[in-house]
Amino acid sequence: MTQPLRMILIGPPGAGKGTQARLLTEKHNVVAISTGDLFRARVKDPNDPLGGEIRQILDAGKLVPDEITIRMISERLDQPDCKNGFILDGFPRSVAQAEALEKMLKEKGIKLDAVVQMEVDDDKLVERISGRFTCGKCGEGYHDKFKPPHDPAACDSCGAEDSFTRRSDDNAETVRSRLETYHSQTAPILPFYERLGMLKTVDGMAEMAAVTAQIEAVLCPNKGCDKIQPPKMG
Ligand code: AMP
Repeated sequence: MTQPLRMILIGPPGAGKGTQARLLTEKHNVVAISTGDLFRARVKDPNDPLGGEIRQILDAGKLVPDEITIRMISERLDQPDCKNGFILDGFPRSVAQAEALEKMLKEKGIKLDAVVQMEVDDDKLVERISGRFTCGKCGEGYHDKFKPPHDPAACDSCGAEDSFTRRSDDNAETVRSRLETYHSQTAPILPFYERLGMLKTVDGMAEMAAVTAQIEAVLCPNKGCDKIQPPKMG
């Protein structure tokens, strides 16, 4: 029987965590949980009383308070679609969040399989982030320079027209602040997971498919490992 896969992806903004999470979920039938996506959905929801406050925090490149973030993740992990496994993208982002996650997982009786760090050069990140955009319909990611769509007005993947969106925090000023936040608040969780013996590192500068292969290799160094499920058919 195949076992659920539960992992964390860590890396600075623009490392490709969202892209890898997406590829891995499609391939291995687990859900990706991105706290950034959850916050962006709250910003868009006119009925969310905290939407305006969260937007200001996102646009400043700062972290949303732990209390809100941790509760949101705890509720998300209780959803039935997490039973078969999950990939956390963007959480935890501070030592306090990592400690809260450890406690929460213990209480829920969940064991993490791996914590994967995607290493990238800081100076490449601003270029990567400031050119990126997404299809608002299917979520396919693009880049002005590295991955433009064949037809500039239509999504290669789902064909939707005029559906491309850019994140409001993907501008040079906010990106610099997000990078600073990563180094001062998020990078300290790396030694935390190293001490727990869970940290694996992959080269986030490699080609997209090569990064996926590296992640799969660190998850399951032995061929035939049952953490990796066969791709869904059809
Ligand atoms: P991301 O999509 O992961 O780049 O996240 C976008 C923004 O959402 C971040 O710059 C933060 O403002 C906020 N955010 C995402 N995850 C967290 C988290 N774990 N804790 C606090 N704020 C977060």
